Formats: sequence, C-alpha cells, structure tokens
Amino acid sequence: MELEKIYKLFDKLKIIDLNCNPTYYKEVNMDKESFINRSYNIGDDTIVIGIYDNKEYKCASFFHELGHILTDVIIENKYYREIEAWRIGLNKAEKLKVKFSKDCYKWINAQIETYSKYKHKR
Ligand SMILES: [Zn+2]
Repeated sequence: MELEKIYKLFDKLKIIDLNCNPTYYKEVNMDKESFINRSYNIGDDTIVIGIYDNKEYKCASFFHELGHILTDVIIENKYYREIEAWRIGLNKAEKLKVKFSKDCYKWINAQIETYSKYKHKR
C-alpha cells in the first residue's frame, strides 16, 4: 500500500511529510540533517515524516510514530518506550496488511539498538 493511501486512513492526524513540505525544517528552526531517515511525533495528533531514500523505512517509521500516539501506557524508560511504540505501530501495520521485508526488520532492529544506551536509565 502506498504511504499516501495509508496517511488517508488516519485523517484525524496532521501528517507533515517533508517530501511535500521540503522547507518545514526551517519553520521549526532545525537543520535538514535532523530529518534524514528520522521522523517525529508532536503531541498526540501530529506526525512529521522525514526524508528517506528507502520507502519501506519511511513507511515503517510512520507506523512507529503512530505507535507513540496510539500507546496508552506511560513508560518512563526511553528504551522500553521506543520498543512499545514499534510494537503498537507494527501491530497496526499488520492489521492493515502492510508488510515489511526482512531487510526492513533489520533496519528496525538497528533503530531500536540506537536507544539501548537508555536501557538501564530511568
Ligand atoms: Zn520513537
């Protein structure tokens, strides 16, 4: 499923895709670098999708940010909070029959790994 079609399924969310808003980073006083292969969620209704070469990674990132929004538990620890967002988001993707390749799952694991430094912090 094309990501644009997936966005439409979540019409209550404000989705800012840097492909369509290439100068968004300037509006928020950030540098472009911060949006390379990175996405963000703002509050409980906005997702900012960064700039990706890989469409699948981009799609997976959308579901991760969605996971942050859909999570209804508060997890203090950042590492476990990130894992929970992946779990919820990937569950949602599965329900919509959005599938990811092995390569994409490897990438997701690498993303989770970047948070492992927070594993034992509060
Ligand atoms: Zn996250």
